[in-house]
Amino acid sequence: MIVVLKNGAEKQKIEELKKNLNEKGLEIHESKGKDVTLWGLVGDTSRITPEELLANDIVESAQRVKAPYKQASRSFHPEDTVIDVKGNKIGDGKICSIMAGPCSVETEEQIIEVAKAVKASGARFLRGGAFKPRTSPYSFQGLGAEGLELLKIARKETGLPIVTELMAINQIPLFEDVDIIQIGARNMQNFDLLKEVGKLKNPILLKRGLSATVKEFLMSAEYIMASGNENVILCERGIRTFDNYTRNCLDLSIVPYLKKETHLPVIIDPSHACGIRWMVPTLAKAAVAVGADGLIIEVHNNPEKALCDGEQSLTPAQFDDLMKVLGKYAAVEGRTV
Ligand code: PEP
Ligand code: MN
Repeated sequence: MIVVLKNGAEKQKIEELKKNLNEKGLEIHESKGKDVTLWGLVGDTSRITPEELLANDIVESAQRVKAPYKQASRSFHPEDTVIDVKGNKIGDGKICSIMAGPCSVETEEQIIEVAKAVKASGARFLRGGAFKPRTSPYSFQGLGAEGLELLKIARKETGLPIVTELMAINQIPLFEDVDIIQIGARNMQNFDLLKEVGKLKNPILLKRGLSATVKEFLMSAEYIMASGNENVILCERGIRTFDNYTRNCLDLSIVPYLKKETHLPVIIDPSHACGIRWMVPTLAKAAVAVGADGLIIEVHNNPEKALCDGEQSLTPAQFDDLMKVLGKYAAVEGRTV
Protein backbone atom coordinates (compact mmCIF):
# COMPACT_ATOMS: atom_id res chain seq x y z
CA MET A 1 0.00 0.00 0.00
CA ILE A 2 1.26 3.48 -0.88
CA VAL A 3 0.16 6.31 1.40
CA VAL A 4 0.83 9.95 0.52
CA LEU A 5 0.63 12.40 3.42
CA LYS A 6 -0.82 15.89 3.08
CA ASN A 7 1.67 18.73 2.90
CA GLY A 8 2.19 20.25 6.33
CA ALA A 9 0.51 17.37 8.18
CA GLU A 10 0.74 17.78 11.94
CA LYS A 11 3.65 15.89 13.52
CA GLN A 12 1.55 14.48 16.33
CA LYS A 13 -1.05 13.11 13.93
CA ILE A 14 1.70 11.54 11.83
CA GLU A 15 3.09 9.79 14.91
CA GLU A 16 -0.39 8.56 15.90
CA LEU A 17 -0.98 7.09 12.45
CA LYS A 18 2.46 5.47 12.47
CA LYS A 19 1.73 3.86 15.84
CA ASN A 20 -1.63 2.67 14.63
CA LEU A 21 -0.13 1.05 11.52
CA ASN A 22 2.75 -0.51 13.45
CA GLU A 23 0.23 -2.02 15.86
CA LYS A 24 -1.43 -3.69 12.89
CA GLY A 25 1.93 -5.33 12.16
CA LEU A 26 2.76 -3.06 9.22
CA GLU A 27 6.25 -1.74 8.54
CA ILE A 28 6.54 1.81 7.16
CA HIS A 29 9.12 2.68 4.51
CA GLU A 30 9.22 6.46 4.34
CA SER A 31 10.29 8.34 1.23
CA LYS A 32 10.57 12.11 1.72
CA GLY A 33 10.62 14.23 -1.43
CA LYS A 34 10.73 18.02 -1.66
CA ASP A 35 6.95 18.41 -1.48
CA VAL A 36 5.58 15.02 -0.55
CA THR A 37 6.02 12.41 2.11
CA LEU A 38 5.20 8.94 0.93
CA TRP A 39 4.87 5.78 2.97
CA GLY A 40 5.20 2.32 1.56
CA LEU A 41 3.46 -0.14 3.87
CA VAL A 42 4.88 -3.65 4.05
CA GLY A 43 3.23 -6.60 5.74
CA ASP A 44 -0.28 -7.99 5.68
CA THR A 45 -2.01 -4.96 4.18
CA SER A 46 -5.29 -6.88 3.90
CA ARG A 47 -5.81 -5.72 7.50
CA ILE A 48 -6.38 -2.17 6.31
CA THR A 49 -8.30 -0.54 3.44
CA PRO A 50 -7.44 2.61 1.47
CA GLU A 51 -10.81 4.04 2.59
CA GLU A 52 -9.89 3.67 6.26
CA LEU A 53 -6.64 5.50 5.65
CA LEU A 54 -8.33 8.26 3.65
CA ALA A 55 -10.68 8.90 6.56
CA ASN A 56 -7.61 10.23 8.34
CA ASP A 57 -7.30 13.97 7.65
CA ILE A 58 -3.53 13.91 7.15
CA VAL A 59 -3.75 11.38 4.31
CA GLU A 60 -3.80 12.74 0.77
CA SER A 61 -4.09 9.38 -1.02
CA ALA A 62 -3.87 5.66 -0.32
CA GLN A 63 -3.52 2.98 -2.96
CA ARG A 64 -2.75 -0.71 -3.06
CA VAL A 65 0.40 -1.69 -5.00
CA LYS A 66 -0.65 -4.03 -7.79
CA ALA A 67 2.81 -5.41 -8.55
CA PRO A 68 3.90 -8.40 -6.42
CA TYR A 69 7.19 -6.66 -5.67
CA LYS A 70 6.81 -3.79 -3.24
CA GLN A 71 10.17 -2.54 -1.98
CA ALA A 72 11.70 -2.87 -5.45
CA SER A 73 8.86 -0.92 -7.03
CA ARG A 74 9.27 2.71 -8.03
CA SER A 75 5.79 3.49 -6.75
CA PHE A 76 7.09 2.58 -3.31
CA HIS A 77 10.26 4.63 -3.62
CA PRO A 78 9.97 7.34 -6.31
CA GLU A 79 13.59 8.54 -6.07
CA ASP A 80 16.40 6.61 -7.77
CA THR A 81 18.44 4.45 -5.43
CA VAL A 82 22.07 5.51 -5.66
CA ILE A 83 24.60 3.00 -4.35
CA ASP A 84 27.82 4.54 -3.16
CA VAL A 85 30.79 2.19 -3.07
CA LYS A 86 33.84 3.99 -1.70
CA GLY A 87 32.80 7.20 -3.43
CA ASN A 88 31.81 5.49 -6.71
CA LYS A 89 28.14 6.19 -7.26
CA ILE A 90 26.01 3.68 -9.15
CA GLY A 91 22.58 4.82 -10.28
CA ASP A 92 22.99 8.60 -9.98
CA GLY A 93 22.04 9.18 -13.62
CA LYS A 94 25.35 10.93 -14.30
CA ILE A 95 27.87 8.12 -14.42
CA CYS A 96 27.81 4.83 -16.28
CA SER A 97 30.08 2.85 -13.92
CA ILE A 98 32.37 0.43 -15.69
CA MET A 99 33.34 -2.82 -13.95
CA ALA A 100 35.99 -4.83 -15.73
CA GLY A 101 38.30 -7.77 -15.24
CA PRO A 102 38.72 -11.44 -16.03
CA CYS A 103 36.00 -14.03 -15.78
CA SER A 104 38.15 -15.86 -13.23
CA VAL A 105 41.06 -14.91 -11.05
CA GLU A 106 43.89 -17.22 -12.17
CA THR A 107 47.17 -15.98 -10.68
CA GLU A 108 48.43 -12.99 -8.72
CA GLU A 109 50.32 -11.67 -11.76
CA GLN A 110 47.25 -12.04 -14.00
CA ILE A 111 44.79 -10.24 -11.71
CA ILE A 112 47.21 -7.43 -10.88
CA GLU A 113 48.13 -6.90 -14.53
CA VAL A 114 44.48 -6.77 -15.61
CA ALA A 115 43.50 -4.59 -12.64
CA LYS A 116 46.20 -2.04 -13.46
CA ALA A 117 45.28 -2.03 -17.13
CA VAL A 118 41.52 -1.57 -16.65
CA LYS A 119 42.11 1.10 -14.04
CA ALA A 120 44.37 3.02 -16.43
CA SER A 121 41.59 2.86 -19.03
CA GLY A 122 39.03 4.30 -16.61
CA ALA A 123 37.24 1.31 -15.06
CA ARG A 124 35.82 2.08 -11.61
CA PHE A 125 35.58 -1.52 -10.34
CA LEU A 126 37.56 -4.73 -10.74
CA ARG A 127 35.55 -7.87 -11.47
CA GLY A 128 36.90 -11.40 -11.11
CA GLY A 129 35.42 -14.76 -10.19
CA ALA A 130 36.93 -16.81 -7.37
CA PHE A 131 34.04 -19.27 -6.97
CA LYS A 132 32.88 -20.20 -10.46
CA PRO A 133 29.55 -21.74 -11.46
CA ARG A 134 30.71 -23.92 -14.39
CA THR A 135 28.42 -26.02 -16.56
CA SER A 136 30.89 -28.92 -16.45
CA PRO A 137 32.26 -30.31 -13.20
CA TYR A 138 35.50 -31.02 -15.09
CA SER A 139 36.08 -27.35 -15.99
CA PHE A 140 38.17 -24.98 -13.86
CA GLN A 141 36.08 -24.21 -10.78
CA GLY A 142 37.91 -21.06 -9.69
CA LEU A 143 40.60 -20.58 -7.04
CA GLY A 144 38.02 -20.20 -4.26
CA ALA A 145 39.22 -18.49 -1.07
CA GLU A 146 42.69 -18.02 -2.56
CA GLY A 147 41.12 -16.16 -5.51
CA LEU A 148 39.40 -13.78 -3.07
CA GLU A 149 42.72 -13.05 -1.42
CA LEU A 150 44.31 -12.30 -4.81
CA LEU A 151 41.45 -9.93 -5.63
CA LYS A 152 42.08 -8.10 -2.38
CA ILE A 153 45.78 -7.79 -3.27
CA ALA A 154 44.78 -6.32 -6.65
CA ARG A 155 42.42 -3.93 -4.86
CA LYS A 156 45.25 -2.80 -2.62
CA GLU A 157 47.56 -2.28 -5.60
CA THR A 158 45.06 -0.27 -7.63
CA GLY A 159 42.45 1.11 -5.23
CA LEU A 160 39.69 -0.44 -7.37
CA PRO A 161 36.75 -1.83 -5.37
CA ILE A 162 36.08 -5.50 -6.16
CA VAL A 163 33.03 -7.35 -7.51
CA THR A 164 32.96 -11.13 -7.16
CA GLU A 165 30.43 -13.95 -7.14
CA LEU A 166 29.12 -15.67 -4.03
CA MET A 167 27.73 -19.12 -4.77
CA ALA A 168 26.69 -20.59 -1.46
CA ILE A 169 25.61 -19.62 2.05
CA ASN A 170 28.65 -21.24 3.67
CA GLN A 171 30.96 -18.88 1.72
CA ILE A 172 29.39 -15.75 3.24
CA PRO A 173 32.00 -15.25 6.04
CA LEU A 174 34.72 -15.00 3.36
CA PHE A 175 32.86 -12.18 1.60
CA GLU A 176 32.61 -9.71 4.49
CA ASP A 177 35.16 -7.38 2.95
CA VAL A 178 33.97 -7.71 -0.68
CA ASP A 179 32.80 -4.35 -2.07
CA ILE A 180 30.01 -5.72 -4.28
CA ILE A 181 28.76 -9.30 -3.97
CA GLN A 182 27.56 -10.84 -7.21
CA ILE A 183 24.73 -13.35 -7.23
CA GLY A 184 25.04 -15.14 -10.55
CA ALA A 185 22.34 -15.95 -13.07
CA ARG A 186 22.22 -19.58 -11.94
CA ASN A 187 21.49 -18.57 -8.36
CA MET A 188 18.93 -15.87 -9.09
CA GLN A 189 16.19 -18.03 -7.63
CA ASN A 190 18.19 -19.60 -4.83
CA PHE A 191 15.81 -18.08 -2.31
CA ASP A 192 17.67 -19.23 0.78
CA LEU A 193 20.84 -17.58 -0.52
CA LEU A 194 18.89 -14.40 -1.37
CA LYS A 195 17.49 -14.25 2.17
CA GLU A 196 20.98 -14.60 3.63
CA VAL A 197 22.59 -11.89 1.47
CA GLY A 198 19.58 -9.77 2.40
CA LYS A 199 20.95 -9.74 5.95
CA LEU A 200 24.29 -8.26 4.80
CA LYS A 201 25.22 -4.63 4.26
CA ASN A 202 27.33 -5.21 1.11
CA PRO A 203 25.71 -4.05 -2.15
CA ILE A 204 24.41 -7.03 -4.14
CA LEU A 205 24.79 -7.28 -7.91
CA LEU A 206 21.90 -9.56 -8.87
CA LYS A 207 22.13 -11.13 -12.30
CA ARG A 208 19.02 -12.03 -14.24
CA GLY A 209 18.42 -15.79 -14.45
CA LEU A 210 18.97 -17.59 -17.74
CA SER A 211 15.24 -17.75 -18.48
CA ALA A 212 13.80 -15.45 -15.86
CA THR A 213 10.92 -13.11 -16.63
CA VAL A 214 11.22 -9.52 -15.48
CA LYS A 215 8.70 -10.24 -12.75
CA GLU A 216 10.73 -13.20 -11.46
CA PHE A 217 13.88 -11.07 -11.59
CA LEU A 218 12.25 -8.35 -9.52
CA MET A 219 10.81 -10.85 -7.05
CA SER A 220 14.36 -12.06 -6.44
CA ALA A 221 15.45 -8.47 -5.76
CA GLU A 222 12.45 -8.25 -3.44
CA TYR A 223 13.69 -11.28 -1.47
CA ILE A 224 16.99 -9.49 -0.77
CA MET A 225 15.27 -6.23 0.13
CA ALA A 226 12.63 -7.92 2.29
CA SER A 227 15.46 -9.33 4.41
CA GLY A 228 16.83 -5.82 4.97
CA ASN A 229 19.42 -5.14 2.26
CA GLU A 230 18.19 -2.35 -0.01
CA ASN A 231 21.45 -2.04 -1.95
CA VAL A 232 20.56 -4.14 -4.96
CA ILE A 233 21.98 -3.59 -8.45
CA LEU A 234 20.09 -5.37 -11.23
CA CYS A 235 22.17 -6.87 -14.03
CA GLU A 236 20.89 -7.99 -17.43
CA ARG A 237 23.30 -10.59 -18.86
CA GLY A 238 21.32 -12.08 -21.71
CA ILE A 239 18.55 -14.66 -21.67
CA ARG A 240 17.77 -17.92 -23.45
CA THR A 241 15.65 -17.71 -26.57
CA PHE A 242 14.91 -20.15 -29.42
CA ASP A 243 18.08 -19.01 -31.19
CA ASN A 244 21.67 -19.71 -30.22
CA TYR A 245 23.77 -17.76 -32.71
CA THR A 246 25.01 -15.84 -29.68
CA ARG A 247 25.59 -17.33 -26.21
CA ASN A 248 22.47 -15.56 -24.94
CA CYS A 249 20.14 -12.87 -26.22
CA LEU A 250 20.77 -9.40 -24.78
CA ASP A 251 17.43 -7.95 -23.73
CA LEU A 252 18.11 -4.24 -24.12
CA SER A 253 14.51 -3.19 -23.61
CA ILE A 254 14.69 -4.37 -20.02
CA VAL A 255 16.78 -1.29 -19.16
CA PRO A 256 14.18 1.42 -19.84
CA TYR A 257 11.49 -0.90 -18.47
CA LEU A 258 13.31 -1.50 -15.20
CA LYS A 259 14.25 2.16 -14.85
CA LYS A 260 10.54 2.99 -15.02
CA GLU A 261 9.29 0.12 -12.88
CA THR A 262 11.94 0.19 -10.15
CA HIS A 263 14.26 2.66 -8.43
CA LEU A 264 17.21 0.27 -8.42
CA PRO A 265 20.33 0.76 -10.58
CA VAL A 266 20.42 -1.34 -13.74
CA ILE A 267 23.63 -2.52 -15.37
CA ILE A 268 24.43 -4.63 -18.43
CA ASP A 269 26.90 -7.47 -18.96
CA PRO A 270 27.54 -7.52 -22.71
CA SER A 271 30.21 -10.25 -22.38
CA HIS A 272 27.97 -13.08 -21.13
CA ALA A 273 25.10 -11.74 -23.24
CA CYS A 274 26.77 -12.44 -26.58
CA GLY A 275 29.75 -14.63 -25.70
CA ILE A 276 31.73 -13.31 -28.68
CA ARG A 277 34.63 -10.87 -28.27
CA TRP A 278 34.11 -8.82 -31.43
CA MET A 279 30.48 -8.12 -30.56
CA VAL A 280 31.10 -6.88 -27.00
CA PRO A 281 32.05 -3.26 -27.86
CA THR A 282 28.96 -2.78 -30.05
CA LEU A 283 26.64 -4.08 -27.32
CA ALA A 284 28.45 -2.00 -24.70
CA LYS A 285 27.72 1.14 -26.73
CA ALA A 286 24.09 0.11 -27.07
CA ALA A 287 23.89 -0.42 -23.31
CA VAL A 288 25.08 3.13 -22.68
CA ALA A 289 22.57 4.43 -25.22
CA VAL A 290 19.61 2.75 -23.50
CA GLY A 291 20.56 4.30 -20.18
CA ALA A 292 22.34 1.54 -18.26
CA ASP A 293 23.81 2.72 -14.96
CA GLY A 294 26.88 0.59 -15.53
CA LEU A 295 28.53 -2.18 -17.49
CA ILE A 296 30.40 -5.29 -16.37
CA ILE A 297 32.89 -6.40 -19.01
CA GLU A 298 35.29 -9.33 -19.15
CA VAL A 299 38.92 -8.37 -19.87
CA HIS A 300 41.84 -10.82 -19.90
CA ASN A 301 45.55 -10.16 -20.46
CA ASN A 302 45.80 -13.32 -22.57
CA PRO A 303 42.31 -14.36 -23.70
CA GLU A 304 43.59 -17.31 -25.79
CA LYS A 305 44.94 -18.93 -22.61
CA ALA A 306 42.10 -17.90 -20.26
CA LEU A 307 40.80 -20.69 -18.01
CA CYS A 308 37.25 -19.44 -18.46
CA ASP A 309 35.36 -17.37 -21.05
CA GLY A 310 38.42 -16.34 -23.09
CA GLU A 311 36.36 -16.19 -26.30
CA GLN A 312 34.27 -13.32 -24.94
CA SER A 313 37.08 -11.48 -23.12
CA LEU A 314 38.52 -8.25 -24.49
CA THR A 315 42.25 -7.67 -24.41
CA PRO A 316 43.35 -4.67 -22.32
CA ALA A 317 44.07 -2.76 -25.55
CA GLN A 318 40.57 -3.47 -26.91
CA PHE A 319 39.09 -2.41 -23.58
CA ASP A 320 41.06 0.81 -23.70
CA ASP A 321 39.74 1.60 -27.20
CA LEU A 322 36.21 0.83 -26.04
CA MET A 323 36.46 3.11 -23.00
CA LYS A 324 37.42 6.05 -25.19
CA VAL A 325 34.37 5.52 -27.39
CA LEU A 326 32.02 4.83 -24.46
CA GLY A 327 32.92 8.20 -22.98
CA LYS A 328 31.71 9.88 -26.16
CA TYR A 329 28.46 7.90 -26.19
CA ALA A 330 27.80 8.79 -22.56
CA ALA A 331 28.56 12.46 -23.26
CA VAL A 332 25.69 12.59 -25.78
CA GLU A 333 23.35 12.05 -22.80
CA GLY A 334 25.30 14.44 -20.58
CA ARG A 335 26.88 11.52 -18.71
CA THR A 336 30.39 10.15 -18.17
CA VAL A 337 31.85 6.68 -17.79
C1 PEP B 1 30.23 -14.29 -14.48
O1 PEP B 1 29.98 -13.10 -14.28
O2 PEP B 1 31.38 -14.72 -14.63
C2 PEP B 1 29.10 -15.25 -14.59
C3 PEP B 1 29.28 -16.54 -14.37
O3 PEP B 1 27.97 -14.65 -14.97
P1 PEP B 1 26.46 -15.23 -15.13
O4 PEP B 1 26.01 -15.61 -13.76
O5 PEP B 1 25.74 -14.06 -15.71
O6 PEP B 1 26.54 -16.39 -16.09
MN1 MN C 1 32.47 -15.36 -17.37
